[in-house]
Amino acid sequence: MTSTYVTRFAPSPTGYLHLGHAFSALTAYKAAKDAGGKFILRIEDIDLTRCRTEYESAIYEDLEWLGLDWDPPVRRQSDHFEEYAEALETLAENQLVYRCFKTRQEITDEIARAPHLSPSGPEGPQYIGAPLKANEERSLMAKGAPYAWRLSISAAQEFLGEKFHALHFTAELENGETQRVNATPALFGDAVIGRKDSGVSYHLASVYDDALQNVTHVIRGQDLYHAAHLHRLLQALLALPEPVYRCHRLITDDNGKRFAKRDKSATLRARRMSGATPEAVRAELGFR
Ligand code: GLU
Repeated sequence: MTSTYVTRFAPSPTGYLHLGHAFSALTAYKAAKDAGGKFILRIEDIDLTRCRTEYESAIYEDLEWLGLDWDPPVRRQSDHFEEYAEALETLAENQLVYRCFKTRQEITDEIARAPHLSPSGPEGPQYIGAPLKANEERSLMAKGAPYAWRLSISAAQEFLGEKFHALHFTAELENGETQRVNATPALFGDAVIGRKDSGVSYHLASVYDDALQNVTHVIRGQDLYHAAHLHRLLQALLALPEPVYRCHRLITDDNGKRFAKRDKSATLRARRMSGATPEAVRAELGFR
């Protein structure tokens, strides 16, 4: 059976799309078209405090304006919390996750006290903790104390045995060549995979959905390159297939700074309002 090439654009509706998003969407769209495959759109809106439906509607409008279409249906992550909870439950049944009641400040203080125990990951030193004793946990839960779920890297290592160090992911380079990269998920320490507020994190929801939606090629910005190390581990723990990872360069402004949602002038809306055509925006980003 030949598998169809499937890639996706997975924005979070926390602001209007800017040129960086457009570049990402166009890159994935072109890759799908060149491969005769599918381009799908996923709305990553698990952060209920920051995501807004008006930004979601704007995503559809802006992408259409840019000339993109996608294979339906659009998956909205906020409609699927129960599925992510089930995936988390699978990990919990295998004692791969634990509840962490600590506040952000407590975590920072602990890392500062024991830097030698904290792996230094792509985003600075990472936390490694341990589950609480059953009675301590029960009493905190009885009080309704909020908690996050953390993936225990030592439990994952024990669970996978020799396979843990043999984990690799495929990275596709700009020139189309692929490389097998040894996955080192320990870089992330005991990563939060279930947030205190919504019970799921980007890592879990994204890995789960990529598998569910048969994504064969994950195309996203270089800023997320390291996430593949952790995502590959989650796939191994949840017995999910592994996609190819392609990270594209990041689009920057005239000062070499990455666009952020606060850069109002770089949004597709602003471009449109100031009279730019979709063709001009595509050409500016190197697409026809
Ligand atoms: N939702 C993420 C973002 O807006 C993208 C995640 C991904 O492509 O894996 O940055």
